[in-house]
Amino acid sequence: MTLFEKIAAREIPSEILAEGSDWIAFRDIAPQAPVHFLVVPKQCIPRINEAKESDSILLGTLLEAAASTARQEGLSASGYRVVINNGPDGGETVPHLHLHVLGGRPMNWPPG
Ligand code: 5GP
Repeated sequence: MTLFEKIAAREIPSEILAEGSDWIAFRDIAPQAPVHFLVVPKQCIPRINEAKESDSILLGTLLEAAASTARQEGLSASGYRVVINNGPDGGETVPHLHLHVLGGRPMNWPPG
């Protein structure tokens, strides 16, 4: 089981913000912004590079879940950033696909 599968199964505690039948949103343990949560599919795709065409509906569901949870967190008006880190240069540290949603402060561009 991956770390995020254990969080989804409540084997590792986390602050869960929202959940659907095939995804879960919970706060990042090391927040990089005043609001920082992750949206994760319950079934592991290691990273976006490994996604298949058959994952397309799930990938769309994850984006909609990111937006709906951001609205729930009060980020609609101020805005937010959605990030997927892929592989070593992308900064991926947990090999289970996840969308970062960051908000509550202005984001810089280009990203570091
Ligand atoms: P990545 O670097 O792979 O894009 O993002 C992994 C994220 O998972 C990091 O932002 C990290 O802080 C978060 N993370 C790692 N371990 C845990 C944990 O046990 N609980 C929670 N809630 N977040 C975690």
